[in-house]
Amino acid sequence: MAVALKGKEVAEQLKEKAGELLAGLGGYQPTLAIVRVGEKPDDISYERGAAKRAAAFGLAVKSCVFPADITQEAFLEEFDKLNACEEVDGILVLKPLPKQLSEQEMERRIDWRKDVDGISPVNAAKIFAGSKDGFAPCTAQAVMEVLHHYRLPVEGKRAVVVGRSMVVGRPLAMLLLQENATVTICHTRTKDLAAVCREADILVAAAGQAKMLHEDFVREGAVVLDVGIHVAEDGSMCGDVDYAAISETAAMATPVPGGIGAVTTAVLCLHVIQAAKQRHKRG
Ligand code: NDP
Repeated sequence: MAVALKGKEVAEQLKEKAGELLAGLGGYQPTLAIVRVGEKPDDISYERGAAKRAAAFGLAVKSCVFPADITQEAFLEEFDKLNACEEVDGILVLKPLPKQLSEQEMERRIDWRKDVDGISPVNAAKIFAGSKDGFAPCTAQAVMEVLHHYRLPVEGKRAVVVGRSMVVGRPLAMLLLQENATVTICHTRTKDLAAVCREADILVAAAGQAKMLHEDFVREGAVVLDVGIHVAEDGSMCGDVDYAAISETAAMATPVPGGIGAVTTAVLCLHVIQAAKQRHKRG
């Protein structure tokens, strides 16, 4: 039976680390700005959850809400103000943005030092180059935090990442490579995906397909990390991995809910504190 790698435990440890970093800031309280365009219920509920979590980590939150029909020019102007704002240490933008706004333009505009969710091309380049001062996207970093927390060795291991998006698959592959795993990235054109996945000591599912990976994809004794989040109409959740099907074969696996998702906002909060520390050269 696979051992469940519990995200809550990892998040608790990150909170402790955050507390230590905060203590070193000499009473300064870092601020996370959450940028929301429009009034989509999903965005509002995500914002509420992130703000609550940030407060639990000792952060201040500045809610920046813009009308759904804001023009590209006006939005970028507001964005520049946040970049320049002394009190803001980190910026989180709720996506997708409305159609009239270019996400690419916004990603280029965000000051990389405040880009706590790792969306700027500057941070992507830093992660690609293995530089220590960049911010990786929080979900990709959350996977690494789970591996670190449970002291699961990465060096020399075969890691297979299913998914090549800029928010999860690609940056995560770079983070695994940085820790000396031998990494394969899979996508929709990968031939015989199951056979490639069966080579993995560390298998990461980030394909966005509910319960796609089952026992045929998992080698005996593998560590399986499930990034996928799928919410059914009845409110129940599952990941990209069929957890019940793999639990006889995998040695360890992250459940959904209660796995990677529980770590992601903790990583975001830690990034805000690190951003404050770097920007003010405090601590
Ligand atoms: P994207 O849709 O942007 O990317 C999915 C990737 O998976 C693509 O590279 C795609 O390949 C690949 N893929 C899709 N279907 C298959 C398949 N059948 N076989 C092989 N590869 C496939 O998704 P994201 O990266 O944004 O998100 C992935 C999952 O993670 C989603 O379930 C999302 O909800 C979840 N997520 C979870 C977060 C968390 O905090 N836990 C945060 C962000 C996302 P191709 O490039 O060829 O199209």
